[in-house]
Amino acid sequence: MSGVAGLLAAIADVGRDPRRGGVTRPVFSPAERTLREWFTAEAAARGLSVEPDGNGGLWAWWDLPPRAGRTTAQARRGALVTGSHLDSVPGGGRFDGPLGVASALAAVSDLQAREAAGQLTRNRALAILVPAEEEGSRFGVACLGSRLMTGDLDPARALALTDADGTTFAEALHAAGLDPARAGRDPAALDSIGDFVELHVEQGRNLAPLAEDAAPGPAVAVGSSILGHGRWRLSLHGQGNHAGTTLMEDRADPMVAAAQVVLAVRKAAGQVPDARATVGRLEPVPGGTNVIASRVDLWLDVRHPEDHVTAELVQRIHGQAQKTAAFEGCTASLTEESSTGTVQFDPVLAGMLTESLRRTVPDAPLLATGAGHDAGVLARHKPAGMLFVRNPTGISHAPEEHVEDDDADTGAAALADALADLL
Ligand SMILES: [Zn+2]
Repeated sequence: MSGVAGLLAAIADVGRDPRRGGVTRPVFSPAERTLREWFTAEAAARGLSVEPDGNGGLWAWWDLPPRAGRTTAQARRGALVTGSHLDSVPGGGRFDGPLGVASALAAVSDLQAREAAGQLTRNRALAILVPAEEEGSRFGVACLGSRLMTGDLDPARALALTDADGTTFAEALHAAGLDPARAGRDPAALDSIGDFVELHVEQGRNLAPLAEDAAPGPAVAVGSSILGHGRWRLSLHGQGNHAGTTLMEDRADPMVAAAQVVLAVRKAAGQVPDARATVGRLEPVPGGTNVIASRVDLWLDVRHPEDHVTAELVQRIHGQAQKTAAFEGCTASLTEESSTGTVQFDPVLAGMLTESLRRTVPDAPLLATGAGHDAGVLARHKPAGMLFVRNPTGISHAPEEHVEDDDADTGAAALADALADLL
């Protein structure tokens, strides 16, 4: 089995979800902690020293050889950092996140062999970074770890976030053996990042063959930008009541309003070119078969290349929800959980990545993506770039997400070439 596929095979069954299919690996769950142990062992096997940061992230350092008068911290300033996340969405694919981590490990092995053969001179340290809670599937805010590290997210707000069981992020950090008081902007970590390169499975149909008999195109692309996106919680408040004794005309049923809101979201987004709006999660309170709900929370994911269009679309959906709710005798309230404007990756770094890829993937295209990534958060503070590896199904955040073994190796080789040039 090939390098990257072999690494991923070792964790293929971790967090397998028999009910949803695919894998469920929320941050600090037993499954995600198993992946952290796997990563730590693989990094240690390559002689890297693994250290946690204050925001739930893991760093594996390939330090420069010691030099008199230079501390480790000094030698790590402006390092080349690569990596990706290990957590998943519920019932997700097994490549989203771990492909970037496994490719980074494989690339380090490759670079170490080049150094041993005298083909690589390193001018800076290299680290593999695994940020925590990229998907936001447990605490609701995507890229939680990287947003905390950069100072984009207030630690007090982050620590108070709760999961579905009412556990706070502070409690989860504590349970993982970390000190919640350390959460927040991390100047030392930021200083250590000179450039950040994240390899990730491509999450749309951009590299997939157009037809079954079509000639295969490039297996790897270089990221150009990330579509602006955000998450909003829309709560519809009604009157909880008995399903048997409450006459139809006496009801204030927020579920009926919610159903209309879901349809309104699709219609509103359909009228705006390039917009994407999704209701992928809906929670009735209290959620009983014979109970008219008192409240329904639904989560809106809205994305558009232009931030003002995203804001206008969310406002239009909110207005529509208020009207619909009033008609049903209910009310609607909207809370922003997170939002990130459209991010352009550093054009100089993107150019260097394209140049490095000429050896392995000479026709690598530049690709804008609709998915959020830690590299997008870091790109507001540091030169950051991404490599995307072909996903022949074009499906992601679902069990059908796939990467062929050969493509995974091409991706890791491309990453190694790029890192070698950047070192
Ligand atoms: Zn991902």
